[in-house]
Amino acid sequence: MAAGAIRGSRVGAAPMGESERGDSAPRKSVTYFCERNHQTVLHFALDAETPEQWDCTRCGLPAGVDATDRPTLETTAPFKTHLAYAKERRSEDEAKDLLKEALTDLRSKRKSGEVIF
Ligand SMILES: [Zn+2]
Repeated sequence: MAAGAIRGSRVGAAPMGESERGDSAPRKSVTYFCERNHQTVLHFALDAETPEQWDCTRCGLPAGVDATDRPTLETTAPFKTHLAYAKERRSEDEAKDLLKEALTDLRSKRKSGEVIF
């Protein structure tokens, strides 16, 4: 009878196959170090390939597995501010001229009503 089957199972007994729920798969943890001394610990399956670099979860900089040889911004993708790029292309004087030009242009536009700020 069905009622007998229910009575037969213990309260709290786990269904078949769930007794080893959790860390059943073997894992390895890998620590990544970024330039700013943050540590990001990731867990991979044992047979998974470990990436050499990972973006730091705290600051976003590239982090590497070797704490003594951390990736720097120079060795990875270049990151520069817009201003840095602009300075690379233009000298100070050129920048001043450009600014003057832009201001002159802006003023004439204001006068003509093209720009209203
Ligand atoms: Zn970091």
